[in-house]
Amino acid sequence: MTRRKGDGDSGSGLFSVGPFRDKLPGRGRGKPSGGVGWPVAGHADGPGSLVRSGPGAAALDGKLPLFVVHRPYRFHESVPQLLKQLGEDARGKLALGVSSGLPRQTVRAHLKFNSACEASAIRIVDPQGYLADKAHLRVKTLSPRAGRRAPYLRGSDYPVVGILDLQRECGANLLLTAGRALDTSDALGALAAACDEGDQALAALRPGERLALNLTLNAQWLRNPLLRDNLLAELIENRQFAIWHIRVQWPAPARSWVQPVDEELLGGYRVLAETAREHERVLLLPQTGLTGWLALAWGVTGFGTGSYGSNQAFLEESDRRGGKVRSVERYFERQVLHTVERTALSQLAANSAYQKCTCPYCGSLLDGKPWLEEYAGLHHLYGVGMLAAEVAPAAAGRPWSRDVVAGRVREAAQFAAGKLLTGHSDPAHLRTWDRLL
Ligand SMILES: [Zn+2]
Repeated sequence: MTRRKGDGDSGSGLFSVGPFRDKLPGRGRGKPSGGVGWPVAGHADGPGSLVRSGPGAAALDGKLPLFVVHRPYRFHESVPQLLKQLGEDARGKLALGVSSGLPRQTVRAHLKFNSACEASAIRIVDPQGYLADKAHLRVKTLSPRAGRRAPYLRGSDYPVVGILDLQRECGANLLLTAGRALDTSDALGALAAACDEGDQALAALRPGERLALNLTLNAQWLRNPLLRDNLLAELIENRQFAIWHIRVQWPAPARSWVQPVDEELLGGYRVLAETAREHERVLLLPQTGLTGWLALAWGVTGFGTGSYGSNQAFLEESDRRGGKVRSVERYFERQVLHTVERTALSQLAANSAYQKCTCPYCGSLLDGKPWLEEYAGLHHLYGVGMLAAEVAPAAAGRPWSRDVVAGRVREAAQFAAGKLLTGHSDPAHLRTWDRLL
């Protein structure tokens, strides 16, 4: 691949210093109150060792939950430190990964980010082939810049080995197939084509490399029993694909920071995850947020989320530009397993059973100063990662993984009961989750 001069990151300035850079913990504010071991001096056994011998070595063997952080568009410079902190505080109960969209940054930016994320055992540079498909998913129109960075988006005849090479060049250590959207009107044909591509990719792997079959689906694939059966049959039959990386677009009215309560969709996730567990395959659910955490109960090995409404889940996108929308200040509240409005916090914190977050960001975030979106996002990632670590001993398929998750869900429902949590702050998913667990 030819690197193009000036083919830099769009808009926000990839290598620029973020607006809150001077306010990072340890940079002028001293040690945030309540922080846990901040700043991290590095792992006892050295940076990067997680990949070779620590918890990260088990990242894809199903013994630990794998928590994948999707690279944020802004403030991504903070992710390496977040990962180190999570790695330390999870005390060997969590494997860590990062995932970036290949078309969204330059090769140089990908390399810089991936090499900085030393605590991350898994580095995915997702080809996101679905971005070129507006027929089966609701996605934004592809920009010319994305098309230049990811030429396979301009046609399906791009060689599979070329797509692998692009990921290698960007620093990926788990390679993916293109991940084009699968057509529900030709389910068997679409699945066969995806598996054919996977076979070509497997044949092109180098010694020691790993490949995930990368599928992008609309929700019908999980909701419709016939489509789901076709999907599962193909996945089970093709035993050569040990790792499934499956992204499902949540249809409207799904919203950012709100977990879906569609029982057909959630039931589809459950069957998919249980099938993966039963057939000893690694199932990764990118961009699923807390719903991915829920699916740890059913047999998922890893899930991913981000720090922004646009990447924490895979929602329908639109080219329509709205007017200036007031951004809602949101806070991930682990005790109710939900992201609530900031205004709801005082009510929760007044309860005697409330447990204050001890992450490195909350000291500064909650001190009454202007709301720092960066810290709110990092706190969210930290909190979800630590929740995943709680499920750790069960991730190998022991029966009580479900009990750990179910116990947390019931505790959250009890804590939320009687509180005035309405609108964005209502953890309405807890009742549905409890029924499905
Ligand atoms: Zn926090």
